[in-house]
Amino acid sequence: MNQEIKVCQNCKKDFIIEPDDFAFYEKIKVPPPTFCPECRKQRRLSWRNDFNLCTSNCKLCGKSVVTLFSPESKMTVYCNKCWWSDKWNPRDYGVDYDSTKPFFVQIKELIQRVPILGLVNDDGIGSVNSEYTHDFAFSKNCYMVFSAWKIENVLYTSYIIAGKDIVDCTNILDFCDLIYEGLQLELCSRVKWSQNCTSCLDSAFLFDCKDCSNCFMCGGLRHKKYCFRNEQYTKEEYEKIVDSYKISTWLESERAKKEFEEFILTIPRKFANNKNCYNCTGDFLINGKNSKSCFNVQRPENDKWIENSDSPKDSYDLVCSGELSECYEGITSDHSSRNLFGIFTWKSQNVQYAHHCHTSHDLFGCASLRNAEYCILNKQYSKEEFEKLRAQIIQDMNNNPYTDSRGVKYKFGEFYPTELSYFGYNETIAQEQFPMTREEVFKNNWKWQDSFQLTKGKETIKSESIPEVIDDVKDQITKEILQCIDCERNYKITEAELTLYRRMQVPIPHRCFYCRLSTRLKKRNSYKLWHRKCMKPECTNEFETSYAPDRPEIVYCETCYNNEVA
Ligand SMILES: [Zn+2]
Ligand SMILES: [Zn+2]
Ligand SMILES: [Zn+2]
Ligand SMILES: [Zn+2]
Repeated sequence: MNQEIKVCQNCKKDFIIEPDDFAFYEKIKVPPPTFCPECRKQRRLSWRNDFNLCTSNCKLCGKSVVTLFSPESKMTVYCNKCWWSDKWNPRDYGVDYDSTKPFFVQIKELIQRVPILGLVNDDGIGSVNSEYTHDFAFSKNCYMVFSAWKIENVLYTSYIIAGKDIVDCTNILDFCDLIYEGLQLELCSRVKWSQNCTSCLDSAFLFDCKDCSNCFMCGGLRHKKYCFRNEQYTKEEYEKIVDSYKISTWLESERAKKEFEEFILTIPRKFANNKNCYNCTGDFLINGKNSKSCFNVQRPENDKWIENSDSPKDSYDLVCSGELSECYEGITSDHSSRNLFGIFTWKSQNVQYAHHCHTSHDLFGCASLRNAEYCILNKQYSKEEFEKLRAQIIQDMNNNPYTDSRGVKYKFGEFYPTELSYFGYNETIAQEQFPMTREEVFKNNWKWQDSFQLTKGKETIKSESIPEVIDDVKDQITKEILQCIDCERNYKITEAELTLYRRMQVPIPHRCFYCRLSTRLKKRNSYKLWHRKCMKPECTNEFETSYAPDRPEIVYCETCYNNEVA
């Protein structure tokens, strides 16, 4: 097959399908996509809510349950204990396939009726005291943590695979402890307000540093001690400078954050942070091979368009997935092979359009099944009946596709349409990478969540009344309702949080979790690539980078970066 230029059904822009892409689609038996990679990603992410929780009641036992699903989603939510129990049978919800109705409508109706886990976590089973977490396992004493496992005492953090005593971090790639406001860190201890660092200790405001300790306001350093703004000082001089910053106070820490942002713009940075990779494009790839447009992935191999994942092989178009092969268009398709169009479907083979199904094989359009085979719309068939009916449904999907309100057609081989998502667009991680206004969302006939998590005007303490220095803050603060200085949302300080702020000597934040999170995610480059030239004068090297051309950072090729920084 030759390279082909197609027009995206959704954005109407051209996109390219490469010969190896055709080979991949042929191997997994799906037609080539009709959406461009970016529109496919936006559609996929519009089905994943990572950070917006609410409370409701388990529809089986009636107990209060924390959930991703707002009442408007009309989902049937069960608590952890009920969902995993034998008190109900997902096969009881099975229905006959109706050839007069688009398949996407039938699977959507099934997804809404069959009970679903309020949150995907193992609180009370493998984890302890971690009710407010999602995509989460084997951990202890965590609160508002998303996509994580094997961690302890972690708060307001996402995408973390090992660590202890951490607040307000994203993308912790290997064990870290006592970290505040960190992004892309590994093997760091007692580090605050830092980004892209490995093996650093007792430091604050570091960018792209390795094996440094007692450094402050530095960028691109290796094996250093007692440095300030990349200059070497004696221990005594260094301590005097750091003390003068008074970063345990709110106003001074804000000032230092600003200074740091300006300072790191003067330090050249590498076009991509890929380690030990061969023939890869993307960012934050470790031990990768032949993988393109992947972001924050460990051990990718022959992959394209995958993000926040671990050990995917021969797979395309995935988010937050691990240890799988030949998977396509999925959200958390862990430990699977040939798991296509799956949402939170694990340990499964040869499944298509499976939603929260586990340890199953040969499913088509099923929801919440476990240990199942040869089911369609949760109804049991023999192997022969299953194969015959699946072929018929695929034919019907192609002859009479689901058409959304903008006229976009969804045949077999497309992921679920965004307009059928049970989440408001602004509840999902699509809003992070593809932000849209309420009006734009309504124009597409997508949903918008107006009410979630937003309490205003209930504050019992004004931000100017919070003591400046953390040591002056009394335990009483955990009883107060605070108000975010950016969005006015009310929020609280938990006891565990206060204890960590005191230990780490950082001030009480004056912004809510959501504003802190979005500020941090903006510092992480967008998961998108641009073709650019090295900014070192006279160098003609070119590369694919996640730094957009209009960004202010100094971006170098590997050679120039290594000459100047590493
Ligand atoms: Zn497009
Ligand atoms: Zn229950
Ligand atoms: Zn806020
Ligand atoms: Zn260069």
